[in-house]
Amino acid sequence: MFPQLSTYCQAHGYPGFELKTIMFDMDGVLFNSMPNHARAWHRAMAFYGLDLPEDEAYMHEGRTGFGTINIVTQRQFGRSADQAECDKIYKKKSEFFNQYPTAERMTGAYETVKAVKEAGVTPTIVTGSGTASLLGRIEQNYPNLFCHEWMVAARDVKFGKPNPEPYLMGMQKAGGLTPRQTMVVENAPLGVEAGVAAGCFVIAVNTGPLPDSVLLDQGANLLFHSMTDLSENIASIIYEANHLNL
Ligand code: MG
Repeated sequence: MFPQLSTYCQAHGYPGFELKTIMFDMDGVLFNSMPNHARAWHRAMAFYGLDLPEDEAYMHEGRTGFGTINIVTQRQFGRSADQAECDKIYKKKSEFFNQYPTAERMTGAYETVKAVKEAGVTPTIVTGSGTASLLGRIEQNYPNLFCHEWMVAARDVKFGKPNPEPYLMGMQKAGGLTPRQTMVVENAPLGVEAGVAAGCFVIAVNTGPLPDSVLLDQGANLLFHSMTDLSENIASIIYEANHLNL
């Protein structure tokens, strides 16, 4: 049903999966927070004379704030942004973001995470986001589902996505797991890139305005168009992954 599972194992020389954890990205996967982030980025940049269209903000999702600001400053002014500029733009972005109503749980995400746990696989979170308000709402929206000890957030990482660091750290925190013991669920091109670079099987969920091709081009192994779609398939994916006959 999911030939991508054996294709992945064969490509990596694995005899099969031994799934122990599924690492979920947060923004655009667990919470529908990306429209607010994109809007806040666009407005904060415009406030300081920089142009970052909302749709383009989705392409930068997962990058550190400083990384995004630097790319736009380079493009527009032909120079790097300095620390003071980064600080003020990022502060403005956070101000706008915090003015918006808190993002809702992504439809279908609770059912997905619950199905993972019921299949005997531990769900955890690997996010580049430092959004304290969302991190604080995890237990409220996903009670007793996630392993908090294995979680990776912005404060834990130095490079952030698309560097594989956050996912490698997630495997490390989970007791030194290998890629065949993990899967990644991501909505952003840079997040998919990070998961693939970490060697993991990456399930892309296209919850935003970008074409599927940007996620597939980064090497996503499977793609769904909503968390509801994924929730209806995740149990089969896990079962099939753990029973591959290679
Ligand atoms: Mg995301």
